[in-house]
Amino acid sequence: MAMKAYDLIIVGAGPAGLCAALYAGRSMLKAVVLERGAPGGELLNTDLIEDYPGFESILGSELSQRMAAHALKFGAELVTDAVLSVEKQDDGAFLVTGESGDTYHAPVVILTAGGTPTKLGVPGEPEYAGRGVSYCAVCDGHFFRGEVLAVIGGGDAATEEADFLTRYASKVYVIHRRDAFRASPILQQRVFGNPKIEVIWNGVVERIEGDGRNVIQLALRDVVTGTRSELAVGGVFVFIGFQPNTGIVKGHFRHDAAGYFITDDVMMTSIPGLFAAGDVRAQLTRQITTAVGDATTAVIAAAKYLAELRDRQPVATT
Ligand SMILES: Cc1cc2nc3c(=O)[nH]c(=O)nc-3n(C[C@H](O)[C@H](O)[C@H](O)COP(=O)(O)OP(=O)(O)OC[C@H]3O[C@@H](n4cnc5c(N)ncnc54)[C@H](O)[C@@H]3O)c2cc1C
Repeated sequence: MAMKAYDLIIVGAGPAGLCAALYAGRSMLKAVVLERGAPGGELLNTDLIEDYPGFESILGSELSQRMAAHALKFGAELVTDAVLSVEKQDDGAFLVTGESGDTYHAPVVILTAGGTPTKLGVPGEPEYAGRGVSYCAVCDGHFFRGEVLAVIGGGDAATEEADFLTRYASKVYVIHRRDAFRASPILQQRVFGNPKIEVIWNGVVERIEGDGRNVIQLALRDVVTGTRSELAVGGVFVFIGFQPNTGIVKGHFRHDAAGYFITDDVMMTSIPGLFAAGDVRAQLTRQITTAVGDATTAVIAAAKYLAELRDRQPVATT
């Protein structure tokens, strides 16, 4: 068990964390990136990316390798360790504890731990993830031009994304397990007024079925009548929740109703010295471009914060 001291600790090596590492290196900060798995974050669950400027089309795995190599080139220290807790101590510095037993100390932490879309948990979902099962309409919608799609959920995300997907799809079924939406009235209106959308009330997905390559149909059950049926679709978008990875932070912090960090305009959370960037932060949309943008701002702001801390330290007298 070792104790290591840094200027800056970055938790998570997705696009936000790797970009933060790059900027930290270029700012001559002593930084470490703690990542529980392979670097890349959600990029590793993404097949093709077609909306990252400079790359008309790139595999998620390739973009993550390029981002990691770029960060390492500027001197980033990338450590494989799952962070168990991030705690601000009485002296103002952060104590970050890893699963390895090692502890990491720094006056500044940037949390870039992303989040996890809630899964349906039905057979076929993991097998067809990225091959017809998606959790991101903005990212994957255009791969389904002219196809029939299903959206699962009944909240704001499901209704908003169903409406968005009609730009590409010939038809979108919204499958909701209740007989009314939870979504805000304006989003509901858009769904009900969209001729390409049909709502299937009281429906749950029991299985996602495919031909070995792509999704071809859903096995559905009506929770009221118990009737089972099949629905032919080319893709299924699941919007039943997204869990931001904020649980490792000890102590109270400002967050929105869904648990995302609320930050100021330089990405500082309500805990001084704790910054948040990327999918873990409350914001309009969650994309690679927004994650790296947040991370850039966070590191520049963190560097200024560190400089101010040092200016405030009493000068030793002899
Ligand atoms: C299927 C899918 C397809 C997508 N396609 C696109 C697309 O085409 N274009 C686009 O712009 N966006 C796309 N997105 C969204 C994009 O991937 C995310 O917005 C982006 O990855 C967010 O980056 P991030 O660094 O904030 O978080 P993440 O990518 O989630 O990275 C977080 C990292 O933190 C690590 N971590 C979490 N907790 C801990 C812990 N306790 N200790 C150590 N490490 C931890 C995770 O392992 C992960 O590596 C897609 C998302 C999904 C799910």
